[in-house]
Amino acid sequence: MPRTAFFRPFLFLLLSAPAAADDLAATVDQRIRAIESRVIAWRRDIHEHPELSNRETRTADLIAAHLRKLGIEVKTGIAHTGVVGLLKGGKPGRVVALRADMDALPVVEEVDVPFKSTVKAEYIGQQVGVMHACGHDAHMAILMGVAEVLASVREQLPGSVKFIFQPAEEGPPPGEEGGAPLVIKDGALENPKPDAIFGLHVFSGIPAGMIAYRAGPLMASADWLYITVKGKQTHGAWPWAGIDPVVTSAQIVGGLQNIVARQIDVSKEPAVVTVATIHGGARKNIIPDQVEMTGTIRSFDEGMRQDIHARIKHIAESIAQANDASAEVRIDKAVPVTINDAALTEKMLPTLKRIGGEGGSRLNPRVMVGEDFSYFQQQIPGMFYFVGITPKDQDMAKAAPNHSQRFYIDESGLLQGARSLAALAVDFLTQKP
Ligand SMILES: [Zn+2]
Ligand SMILES: [Zn+2]
Repeated sequence: MPRTAFFRPFLFLLLSAPAAADDLAATVDQRIRAIESRVIAWRRDIHEHPELSNRETRTADLIAAHLRKLGIEVKTGIAHTGVVGLLKGGKPGRVVALRADMDALPVVEEVDVPFKSTVKAEYIGQQVGVMHACGHDAHMAILMGVAEVLASVREQLPGSVKFIFQPAEEGPPPGEEGGAPLVIKDGALENPKPDAIFGLHVFSGIPAGMIAYRAGPLMASADWLYITVKGKQTHGAWPWAGIDPVVTSAQIVGGLQNIVARQIDVSKEPAVVTVATIHGGARKNIIPDQVEMTGTIRSFDEGMRQDIHARIKHIAESIAQANDASAEVRIDKAVPVTINDAALTEKMLPTLKRIGGEGGSRLNPRVMVGEDFSYFQQQIPGMFYFVGITPKDQDMAKAAPNHSQRFYIDESGLLQGARSLAALAVDFLTQKP
């Protein structure tokens, strides 16, 4: 055997390893671009048939049928209506999870599109309109497209991809379990356990197609606040004969403002304490027995979150006590802080920047809304990011926000969502750990 012939295969191996990864990334990107119109068609179909949290049955059937057709192993009934698909690559490697949420909101759609939702459903005993007003329809369509393309290259894929279609991101109906915590409880992060998880949210007020990222805390923790102030009913003309819960509540609302303004270190992370509702009494000359208040708390640090909760309780109870009234404080934790793993984000940022291209990606400030993707990030390293869907020629500040009845998706932004999610999966699997 001549010397050169012996070395040739060895050299070929050396040169082909990186080239193969680049080829795979290029092939995937090309195929994503080719199915853009189908992603949009799926989004429109799902948009026209929205379903509320824990009721996503048609949606789940559609997704499961799509994944099965692609030859992906499918598990249904995860956290009620969730669907988890496992695509095993032809080569050994790590496991990456991609997540899309499935639920719509009790909102009457006011956007005039041919696939506008006219769906009605029951929500907490009331008939409501239903609309994909948070853009989860886009998330599912994007992930369906990514699944189709990655399934088409499975032989070249080193490792596995887990597709997690999650119900009830907006929170399950009262009295029901659901969302990311139940998906985890139902074993979606086991057999196999993913080494990382990626997810995106289409976001209003960001130009269509713009990719917006951030390492560390990106979205706030969200908690619900309930305060009941109890006094003693009396005639409005004889306040001294009772204990006034209205004046006490007013002082509590004022006192709570001191937490963010005077007591926590806002140079570290921002926070919000909001009292949003206050109800008490029935008549203008009767001081009532009690007043009920509800509100929300947002923060970006677990320690600060606990500290704020303790301060709310202390302030409300102390002010009530000073007025001879009493205050019962209940805080329900809704979602933790969405914290993007610093090392993972640093590693995957070049992927997002490459897909974004010149001027197509940017750093995003923290946002005060919450995301239950944060529960996955408590289990495994995860990165969540935003993709813009507001028409580029529109005033970004005036775009109807997510959850609005006028929330509008410029579908030209979906391609960047699908390209970025597919590229993150491929790059994560082909890169060295
Ligand atoms: Zn939402
Ligand atoms: Zn959402």
